[in-house]
Amino acid sequence: MTPAHILRDRTLRRFAVFLALIAAALPAAALAFSLLAQRTAQAMLLERDGAVASALLAQGMAENDIAAALAASEVSGAGRALLARIGRTAATPGLLLPELAGYRQAVLPAALAAAGLLAALLLGGALVFARAQAARLAGAERLLRRYAEGDFSARLPRDAEGPLGSLFAAAEELATMLQAKTEAEHRARQFLKQTIADISHQLKTPLAALGLYQEIIAAEPDNADAVRAFAGKAGDALLRMESLIQAMLKITRLDAGSIRFAPAACPLPDLAGRAVRDLLTRAEREGKRIRLEGDPALTLWCDPDWTAEALGNLVKNGLDHTAAGGLVQVTWRHTPGMVQVQVADNGSGIAPEDIHHIFKRFYRGRSGPDARGAGLGLPLARAIVEGQGGAVTVQSTPGQGSVFAVSFPDGPDGLTEL
Ligand code: ADP
Repeated sequence: MTPAHILRDRTLRRFAVFLALIAAALPAAALAFSLLAQRTAQAMLLERDGAVASALLAQGMAENDIAAALAASEVSGAGRALLARIGRTAATPGLLLPELAGYRQAVLPAALAAAGLLAALLLGGALVFARAQAARLAGAERLLRRYAEGDFSARLPRDAEGPLGSLFAAAEELATMLQAKTEAEHRARQFLKQTIADISHQLKTPLAALGLYQEIIAAEPDNADAVRAFAGKAGDALLRMESLIQAMLKITRLDAGSIRFAPAACPLPDLAGRAVRDLLTRAEREGKRIRLEGDPALTLWCDPDWTAEALGNLVKNGLDHTAAGGLVQVTWRHTPGMVQVQVADNGSGIAPEDIHHIFKRFYRGRSGPDARGAGLGLPLARAIVEGQGGAVTVQSTPGQGSVFAVSFPDGPDGLTEL
């Protein structure tokens, strides 16, 4: 961590400026102190000169001689010897005490006041800085505790720089991850709740009907017509429940990743034939046509069973939403980079308000007059295709029909690989 990085923190920068000011104040205080000491010493020496001059004048010494004596700067051996004889040496204890006491009185308080002021400033500044830092850390700690409780409404300051800024940024990164995880968990919980509610809702009606049919049959065991009719209805209800449960199980297994696709090179005519096989009788019964079209040599690299099921769901939807005389067309083609299978119908089309929702589980558009589906066909088809690396898209014009396109990326050898 470089000093430049450290000083990017605003509080640290202010504290560094404060320390620099204190550091600059120290020599200034020393200079002021020495000037004061010089002035005090000068006044003290003048006082001493005054006393000496007064005594010499009183003894009749000429003024010129006194002035010359006071201006002298050389110390002779005889002078030093005289001072020693009269006891004025540096070793004489308390010799100049009165004068020095005045000197100390003038200089010491000023020195102590200056040193005290600087020390107080230093301590006060350090305290203010420490408190500001502690307040920032306490604020951050409060926020982090709120994050831990799942409350992300307030965030750590983004303008913090320097070491604390780096720490905040790392904590924010962690908080974003935690928030994403919390939201994903919440969504998963909501989804599970919704799915359970949907399943129980879907099962409630056929179960209630089954109960009713059973009661009727039990009440009239000898009425062969009623028994036959309600046994048939019970069979229908059972079939509906079975297909719903099967679809749910498949989607759940696909979601959980417990389904392993077994890809193989599938000739597209075979695959499309398999997808529509179980629907041909129904189409004929309802007076609708299913047409398969495309390059007979085109091959798709995919799991044949699952992919045929996905395509079959799209064809079944086409039949569900076309009137008698309608056409459901399965076509396939090889475009650069991918193989695309289209399932187009000339039926009712999909309302714009439905089209963004039709791949959601249990979503059933409002168009179908006798909507008997559970809203699982498209999500299942999409899960199968996407689970193999493909994609499903839809285009529709209400009143004219819909086109579902299943695309698989092309493999390097011309086959579409997973
Ligand atoms: P289901 O068919 O069981 O209702 P799906 O998931 O297969 O459920 O389809 C969801 C909804 O999408 C349908 O209820 C319907 O409104 C709409 N839909 C799907 N395919 C078509 C289509 N080919 N034409 C018109 N609407 C369609």
